[in-house]
Amino acid sequence: MATKQKTLEWEYAPAPEAAKIAKVAKRYGHFINGKWTAPSSGDYFRTTNPATNKKLSEVADGSAADVNAAVKAARVAYEGPWGKMSGRERGKYIFRIARLMQERAREFAIIETLDGGKPIRESRDIDVPLAANHFFYNAGWADKLEYAFPNRKVSSLGVAGQVIPWNFPLLMAAWKIAPALATGNTVVLKPAETTPLTALKLAEIIADSGLPDGVVNIVTGAGETGAAIVNHPDVNKVAFTGSTGVGKLIQKSIAGTDKRATLELGGKAANIILEDAAIDQAVEGIVNGIYFNQGHVCCAGSRLFVQETVFEEVMWKLKRRMETLIVGDPLDKNTDVGAINSKEQLKTIQKYLKAGVEDGAEMFQPKCDLPSTGNWCSPTVFTNVAQSSRIAQEEIFGPVLAVQTFRTVPEVIEKANNTPYGLSAGVWSDKGARLFQISNALEAGVVWGNTYNQFDPASPFGGYKESGFGREGGLHGLAAYLDF
Ligand code: NAD
Repeated sequence: MATKQKTLEWEYAPAPEAAKIAKVAKRYGHFINGKWTAPSSGDYFRTTNPATNKKLSEVADGSAADVNAAVKAARVAYEGPWGKMSGRERGKYIFRIARLMQERAREFAIIETLDGGKPIRESRDIDVPLAANHFFYNAGWADKLEYAFPNRKVSSLGVAGQVIPWNFPLLMAAWKIAPALATGNTVVLKPAETTPLTALKLAEIIADSGLPDGVVNIVTGAGETGAAIVNHPDVNKVAFTGSTGVGKLIQKSIAGTDKRATLELGGKAANIILEDAAIDQAVEGIVNGIYFNQGHVCCAGSRLFVQETVFEEVMWKLKRRMETLIVGDPLDKNTDVGAINSKEQLKTIQKYLKAGVEDGAEMFQPKCDLPSTGNWCSPTVFTNVAQSSRIAQEEIFGPVLAVQTFRTVPEVIEKANNTPYGLSAGVWSDKGARLFQISNALEAGVVWGNTYNQFDPASPFGGYKESGFGREGGLHGLAAYLDF
């Protein structure tokens, strides 16, 4: 697969990761009560490599009966060995899962890239290490909950039903499973239908760790399977990460029940560059915020606000940097921008590219040869974007940046907050006081100062407004699985 940069006088030699070490079975059942279980319907669906659209494996299509079996197993484990176990013993299992994940890190990174299309650099350096770190971090708290929440009597909630999206399949599974186990709950988790493989590989690790049967159950399927988990009467806590549209449906469906819920939903982050910012550093932050990982990031800095006085400089440097981005084989260690996760997502992105032009914005894409098979989109930037344009208002979830300018700080705060979302934002300035002033005024759960897309298991993450409620990570993430 070609990875060309036409504007450079030289090219990197291909450096593909050896896919052979990744063991992917031809077919996977559900992981229920510690056993691989065929779907009750007998139906399976394909999961494909978005870089080639070739089949990787087939996985079980979960029915309500399968979900019921998984919830039953989780309940029995909760009432039985897991519920009775001390925090100290629970912690040992969670540490074991973290260490097993580290041992198999390379295999996990390759499978994440094969199934999801993200560059191996991302899976290898971000997704897998961070996922292991979430298990380590939460393992450490399992026997210290009374110190985490002093003077409060805490207890677990019961069975957690967890549904996750396709953009960080393993990391989202870790965000959900690790705190649930540390706090003594049991789990039924459903990965996204286009990226089920690393959650199923995680099931292998869970089995190897000796975790009692039924504590973690993985059921695969699409939206209906997710709905069956969320609506199951014996699920005590719903943890959902995905689109705002589905989040709203879930909120409606559990209204009036006593289920606890955390919803981590969509975003339309503002990345704000002030005139006193270190411009080269800021340009790298813009690229990291929207182009690496194809913009398949809920907190992607998809709206860029540049102070008018530095607009020309920022755009010149950004376009030059975009010309050097390597788009292509996600398994190649040099690749910056991988494949779009699915044909459907590519169609959505293309619809927005058209909408941007129709709404009067100016589109720029660097010259790069896209591979002839698979799902690809060139890194794209729009300038001259109206605040009302669809590309400035709606979540695109692709490598597409909408740039606007501003003159004053109050103006940019108003523009940045003019969105239904409130997940994340970035501010670039030489003055700490300005960073604090602006970040306090931004309606976003996470604001990065002079950096972008930094994550740590100890730091809570989550949104306001239509980006959802509840936090994952840190003590806030643990609290979401506890009754006080
Ligand atoms: P999606 O909402 O289409 O699907 C997410 C998951 O929900 C999938 O597993 C899907 O099968 C399941 N699902 C679909 N319909 C359902 C229903 N009616 N009931 C229960 N489950 C159902 O989202 P997606 O396209 O997979 O992921 C992209 C979205 O996720 C983006 O909007 C992105 O911003 C968001 N996201 C948010 C965060 C965050 O932390 N806030 C993190 C990652 C992704």
